[in-house]
Amino acid sequence: MRKKTQLIHGGIFGDEKTGAVSVPIYQVSTYKQDGPGKHRGYEYSRTGNPTRNALEELIKELEGGERGFAFGSGMAAMTAVMMLFNQGDHILLTDDVYGGSFRVMTKILNRFGLEATFIDTSDMDSIEKGIKQNTKALFIETPTNPLLKITDLEELSKIAKTHHLLTIVDNTFSTPYWQNPLTLGADIVLHSATKYLGGHSDVVAGLVVVNDEKLGDDLHFVQNSTGGVLGPQDSWLLMRGMKTLGIRMEEHERNTTEIVRFLTGHEAVLKVHYPGLLNHPNHEISKKQSRGFGGMVSFDVGSGEKAQQVLEKVKYFTLAESLGAVESLISIPALMTHASIPAERRKELGITDGLIRISVGLEDVKDLLEDLEQALEG
Ligand SMILES: *Cc1c(COP(=O)(O)O)cnc(C)c1O
Repeated sequence: MRKKTQLIHGGIFGDEKTGAVSVPIYQVSTYKQDGPGKHRGYEYSRTGNPTRNALEELIKELEGGERGFAFGSGMAAMTAVMMLFNQGDHILLTDDVYGGSFRVMTKILNRFGLEATFIDTSDMDSIEKGIKQNTKALFIETPTNPLLKITDLEELSKIAKTHHLLTIVDNTFSTPYWQNPLTLGADIVLHSATKYLGGHSDVVAGLVVVNDEKLGDDLHFVQNSTGGVLGPQDSWLLMRGMKTLGIRMEEHERNTTEIVRFLTGHEAVLKVHYPGLLNHPNHEISKKQSRGFGGMVSFDVGSGEKAQQVLEKVKYFTLAESLGAVESLISIPALMTHASIPAERRKELGITDGLIRISVGLEDVKDLLEDLEQALEG
């Protein structure tokens, strides 16, 4: 099955009992047992729920993994994955990782003795150097947020395997439509499904897929024990959004290509970060491991004041955190998504005050281009 077909027919299609073509919302917490301990596959909805299960089967197939899991948010998904590790373990993470991922590692999980260091994972030497005796996993985001840096997933998984480390990939930006880390050697892939997978700015959710049975059992144990599950209504809403992921990603990409062309030619723009650009340092790697470059772009307008001006003048780009929805969104990472990263560190990473990030939506691209043009003027 090809991806667009899989999005619609994958997982559990419809309802066998009634013929309903969409999966029913099983708004239920507990299930009648035929005898003590004799249940029909479901006993309690934290442990398992048919609507959530349909979503979990769907994401499992889309990522080509062994088992899928749905959580109440991307951060709940990441936290559950980190609970696979023990006190004293060390995780190496991408340096410009999502702000919330940085925060949970350095403000919460560190209190339970999980160590983390942040390195440029697009540089294989720095990975080798960063691996310590107690390192247990590499946690990668590619492309990264907001600089769109690319890590070679095949190379990285090889390094991980020689050191007996798990490779965990946050695949939020690419989605399973464009990129499948498990087929490139990763062990665990996770998503903030709040973004492209949901796609309509109306649901907060997280998804995880693992590539082997043992990891599946371990993660189910964590999910059931700690309880950060996604409810049936949101599971249904997410599946509804996912059905159109293919056509949305294709159109996001088309609009983004035109916007990138416009930005690179504009005199007020100092630099454009987009993996689809020939001059992007890892353009070739991106082409090799992903089927598309995505709908996220960041560009530098030189100063915080200029960036503020653009944000004040745009009409169709909504000033908001988040990304990946039908409506175009605009933000200043230094003041918003990455505000929880200390200023010093932001500077090291190259997240300048004049950096603007846009999530290109599905409006008519001519309107988006005209809007950016007038916002950049003066
Ligand atoms: C938004 C986001 C998260 C966190 O997901 P939530 O659903 O907001 O909890 C994690 N990683 C990336 C790359 C994100 O963009």
